[in-house]
Amino acid sequence: MPTPSAIVIGGGPAGACAAYWLRAAGVAVTLVERAPFPRHKPCGEFISPAATAELQAVAPGPALLAAGARRVSTLELVRAGRRVRWPLPVPAWSLSRAALDALLLAAAADPALPAPPLDLRQPAAVSQAWYTDTSAHVRLSDGAQLCADAVVHADGSGRHDPAGPAPSRRGVVGAKCHLRLRIDPDALVMHAPPVRGGYFGLVTIGPGLVTCAAVLQRGLLASDASIDRALRTLWPAYDPADRDGPWMACPVPGSGHIPAGHPRSFRVGNAAAGVEPVGGEGIGLAIWSGTRCARLLTAPGAPLSRGAAAGAEAMAALARTQARLARDYRRRLRLRRPACRAAAWVLEQPGLSAALWPLLSLPACTLAPWYALTGKPRRAITTGPAL
Ligand SMILES: Cc1cc2nc3c(=O)[nH]c(=O)nc-3n(C[C@H](O)[C@H](O)[C@H](O)COP(=O)(O)OP(=O)(O)OC[C@H]3O[C@@H](n4cnc5c(N)ncnc54)[C@H](O)[C@@H]3O)c2cc1C
Repeated sequence: MPTPSAIVIGGGPAGACAAYWLRAAGVAVTLVERAPFPRHKPCGEFISPAATAELQAVAPGPALLAAGARRVSTLELVRAGRRVRWPLPVPAWSLSRAALDALLLAAAADPALPAPPLDLRQPAAVSQAWYTDTSAHVRLSDGAQLCADAVVHADGSGRHDPAGPAPSRRGVVGAKCHLRLRIDPDALVMHAPPVRGGYFGLVTIGPGLVTCAAVLQRGLLASDASIDRALRTLWPAYDPADRDGPWMACPVPGSGHIPAGHPRSFRVGNAAAGVEPVGGEGIGLAIWSGTRCARLLTAPGAPLSRGAAAGAEAMAALARTQARLARDYRRRLRLRRPACRAAAWVLEQPGLSAALWPLLSLPACTLAPWYALTGKPRRAITTGPAL
């Protein structure tokens, strides 16, 4: 019986995890990644505890630590020079995307996995994808053509799926840079600026090295060079001389779940849905969805579990798998997406964050509701004292 096969477009966390679990189930995978690795990426580089189980199933703790990952055990909220701190009930991770994405892609290529070797096309860009009842096809920008049973769209957009690209949040820009700065090395530090224009967060990713990620209203940005000025508007203490490397800017993902446009097409990560970056949920959703998609495709009796998926029966099975993934996805987003949007809204409204500050500083205020809404592991949580 022919080996089942899949093409994965994109080698970020969603694509690498999909490729890993497909190969773990014996599927022949071709992964196409546009950028040479390691590469930097606009991202806060904080990995929420909602996804640590799935992350560590692909990249175990010792491998993460060897790659430079750090434990984050505290959330600190800053407004107008005042701070509130809460211990995270379950620690998170911070790790540069250059290191994380390279680590996950290396795991996906592990020769010990029970599948044909990963056919890694990198750097190579997909320019088109199309589908028939018997197979899925992809064209690369150098003209090469690939064929498989299914395509997993993990390119951060889904632009090559018949349903089209995922929309971004209007009127804002995402920005990230690294700063030579010392903050509490165990803390994710979120700022609620005292003026309108966006919000930002800081996390340590190495000795004296901090990732700064911001969501900025376009109105603050007259040109690329003004990201420094925009951040200074929100954070008067910011000194551009601390910047270690250039700013990177990108659209901010912001869509509910987008169903794929063909039964042989599967969307994962930002190509499937986008949550507000405030909670550091994006990497986790990418890892979860890549994992879930591959598991559903290769479960006993599933379309890629018993050889190539051709014929009407296989098409029906692919459509059922897709519907199941869509249902799981919507369930995962149901509370998480509005919770993240609401948290961002509070950070973006100086009046609201000021009004809520006395409540947030109460000793009885805990992270429990936030953890419940965003699907993180829960335990008894106590608030730290306002500093
Ligand atoms: C400002 C900002 C801060 C953020 N901070 C955090 C945070 O702290 N924590 C968190 O969890 N999330 C954060 N996010 C969200 C997070 O970055 C994304 O959710 C996550 O990267 C999605 O992963 P992905 O694998 O779906 O896509 P991506 O990480 O975007 O990976 C897609 C890959 O596909 C490749 N690709 C694209 N097009 C093609 C093509 N045509 N052919 C081949 N390859 C292609 C790209 O090169 C890329 O490597 C933040 C987002 C923003 C904007």
